[in-house]
Amino acid sequence: MSNIPHVLILGGGFGGLSAANEIRNNLSSSQVKITIIDKKDWFMVGFAKLWIIRGTRTFENSIGSLNELSKKNIDFLKEEILQIDLQNKNIKTTTKILSYDFLIIAMGAVLAPEKIPGLSENGMNLYDHNQLTEIHNKLKKMKSGNIAISIMGMPYKCPPAPFEASLLIDSMLREEGVRDSVQIHFYSPAPITLPAAGPEISQQILNLINSENIIFHDSCKIKSVEKNKLIFQNGEANFDLLLAIPPHVAPKVIYDSELAKEGGFIPINRNCKTQFENVYAVGDVTTLTVIDTITVPKAGIFAEGEAITVAQNIMSKIQSKTESSLFDGKGGCFIESGRDTASLIEVDMFSEPKPTTKLTESTTKHLDEKIQFEKERLSKWL
Ligand SMILES: Cc1cc2nc3c(=O)[nH]c(=O)nc-3n(C[C@H](O)[C@H](O)[C@H](O)COP(=O)(O)OP(=O)(O)OC[C@H]3O[C@@H](n4cnc5c(N)ncnc54)[C@H](O)[C@@H]3O)c2cc1C
Repeated sequence: MSNIPHVLILGGGFGGLSAANEIRNNLSSSQVKITIIDKKDWFMVGFAKLWIIRGTRTFENSIGSLNELSKKNIDFLKEEILQIDLQNKNIKTTTKILSYDFLIIAMGAVLAPEKIPGLSENGMNLYDHNQLTEIHNKLKKMKSGNIAISIMGMPYKCPPAPFEASLLIDSMLREEGVRDSVQIHFYSPAPITLPAAGPEISQQILNLINSENIIFHDSCKIKSVEKNKLIFQNGEANFDLLLAIPPHVAPKVIYDSELAKEGGFIPINRNCKTQFENVYAVGDVTTLTVIDTITVPKAGIFAEGEAITVAQNIMSKIQSKTESSLFDGKGGCFIESGRDTASLIEVDMFSEPKPTTKLTESTTKHLDEKIQFEKERLSKWL
């Protein structure tokens, strides 16, 4: 280890920004050097994407600049990560090779529409920031017909988000005065709306969307997409506008470095360590199994919590302390109703004997808290 230990963070999203700030808030630049690498130089809270679709936000008003990190003595490098060399402890980017003493992998999940034949040609990607304005414009033009919202792979980011999207789209169409002539159909490969949250919460979410005439179709495993047609393993459905949540995979460099099996994510446990010394992984790029087939959902709030755990463990090592932290698995996520209120799903993934989930009433207070959640992240991290 050189004089000042170097913490290198791959990815400047929820996990990367949370870890970098936690370490920098506790250790000065004479105690630790911190670098974040990301191919883009902005950060956006995931749910702002739905506000852009809804038309209450623009992209420019929803992002924070990663170039602001230098003010906190956190170095930022805007380059693509091409190789993770765990043997030689260095990272290759487009123009540089950087070595590390501690590595935090927070590269998120990659959307893989190419895995579904016909999807890119015939449908829109609800999670792709490049398509949000076009989706908004298409919705705005819609006077009648069928909208299909289709989850095309599990796990995907923020399990309640597609349901929230359907409710916000419903409210937009109501405002446009066309809701009675536009049908919204929701297709999921799962048997219930939110398998991770269990049957009771799933029923509540189903009631919520049904109350707005959004029709849920369970157990629809996608095979391919054709012009105006979804082909499932067990049937077909027509649409005029398809908003898809494509399958998610880990970035290619993760498979190349053998941190995860092809098609999977990096396995971690509650200390967020990988099998390599001083190499940690957090957030959507990981799989953290809780019990049997239940894993920690892919959500910013969990990436943030895991990142704080890793930051504490790295600081402990730098300061030659023996204590080590475990991720507590607690988090909450807001679901907007489309009627100027939101409810909060509170999750405790490691409660005994099994994970617990609670869904609160939908109130204006929770909607304010959601707006605050975004503001807080942008102002404290950047
Ligand atoms: C519509 C929507 C709504 C959501 N709502 C919520 C919510 O209400 N609550 C919640 O908690 N979560 C929500 N999420 C989920 C949340 O956004 C993600 O779970 C979270 O961003 C994961 O954090 P992360 O750090 O693991 O990955 P990310 O935030 O995705 O960050 C990964 C970073 O790595 C970079 N990267 C990847 N590969 C490379 C490479 N090869 N070279 C350089 N850089 C690279 C990416 O550019 C990216 O910036 C929502 C997501 C969406 C899409």
